[in-house]
Amino acid sequence: MKVLILGVNGFIGHHLTKRILAETDWSVYGMDLSDDRLGDSLQNPRFHFIEGDIAINREWIEYHIKKCDCVLPLVAIATPKLYVEDPISVYNLDFEMNLNVVKQCVKYHKRVVFPSTSEVYGACPDPEFTEDFSPLVVGPIQKERWIYSCCKQLLDRVIYAYGTRGHLEFTLFRPFNWVGPRLDSLNTAKEGSSRVVTQFIAELLMKRPISLVDGGSQKRCFTYVEDGIAALLAILRNRDDLCKNQIINIGNPDNECSVRELADMLKRLFMAHPDHRADREYSEIVEVPAQTYYGQGYQDITARKPSIEKARTLLGWSPQVGLEDSLRMTLYSFLEENEPSLRG
Ligand code: UDP
Repeated sequence: MKVLILGVNGFIGHHLTKRILAETDWSVYGMDLSDDRLGDSLQNPRFHFIEGDIAINREWIEYHIKKCDCVLPLVAIATPKLYVEDPISVYNLDFEMNLNVVKQCVKYHKRVVFPSTSEVYGACPDPEFTEDFSPLVVGPIQKERWIYSCCKQLLDRVIYAYGTRGHLEFTLFRPFNWVGPRLDSLNTAKEGSSRVVTQFIAELLMKRPISLVDGGSQKRCFTYVEDGIAALLAILRNRDDLCKNQIINIGNPDNECSVRELADMLKRLFMAHPDHRADREYSEIVEVPAQTYYGQGYQDITARKPSIEKARTLLGWSPQVGLEDSLRMTLYSFLEENEPSLRG
C-alpha cells in the first residue's frame, strides 16, 4: 500500500511514519515544512520525503493523491492559544487547504483517513462523548476559540456527505489529548502556545511558574501517542472494511485528570528526575484567570472524556499506557531533547 501523509513531520505524522515503516511493508510519501522530527525514517528506502508548503506545492500533492492508495491530511494548527490569536490562519489552513485535499480524494477515488478532533464535541454535557450520538456544542462567535471546532466539524460533515453518497471512502478519527515525545517544541512553550502537558514541562525546565487557567479544575483524558498510533494503524489496515465511513474516538478514558492534578504529577515527576533531584528551586504552581492567559476570545471545556466502545469493537483496540507512565515518558523525552539547547 502507498500512503500519502501531508504534515508528515508533525506530532502524529512522524510517529505514524515510524510505526508504518517498522510494522508494515507499505511506502510512505510525505510532505512537510521541515524534517527535524523524522530521524531515522528519512533513511528508509520506503519513505519518500519532500520539504515544502502544502499551500504552494499543489501539483506535487495532486500527483501523489493520484499515485497513493490512502491519504492522511494531517496539516493543521491545533493549539488553543493560536485559535484565539490567529483564527483566520486556523480557517485558511485547517479548513480551506484540507478541503482542497478532500475534494481531490473525491476526484481520484482515494480513501481519506482524516483527523477530526475531540474539540468538535466542544462543551458537550455528556459524561462520555460518543461519535454518533453526542451533540456538538460551541459558544458564541465572539468566543473565537471555537473556530477550530467549527472548521473541523464542517469538514467532518462535508466528508460524511461525500461518503454517504458514494463519492468518497473515509474514516474520521478523533484524538483525545495525545501526549508523548516531540509533542511541541521548547520554542512554542517559550511563547506560551504549547498544549498543556508540554507547556507545564517546559515551565518546569525553565523554572517559570506553572499557570493553572481558572484554577485548574477542568479535566482531560491524556492518551499516550503509541496507543493512539496503534489505533490509527488498525484504521489504515481496515480489516474487513470495518472502518469504512466511520467516525472513531481515539482516547484513554482511564487517564482522566484535572489540570491541577496534572501540574502536581508533572512537578513530582520532574523533582524525582535524576538530573533535577538536587535542584535548588522548582516552579511554583499559580492560578491565572483565563482572560489573562488567553484573552477575551477564550472559553474552556470543563471535561472531555471519550467513549471508546467503537474503537474497541471495530479495531479490537484498547489503550495500554497509564497516566503516570505517559507523562513520565513525555517528560523524560522533552528534557533529553531540550536541556542541552537551554544550557547552550
Ligand atoms: N491550560 C492551563 N495552563 C496552561 C495551558 C493550558 O491551565 O499553561 C489548560 C487549558 O485552559 C485547558 C487545558 O489546560 O483547560 C488543556 O489545554 P490544551 O492547550 O492542552 O488544549 P485542549 O485540551 O483545551 O484542547
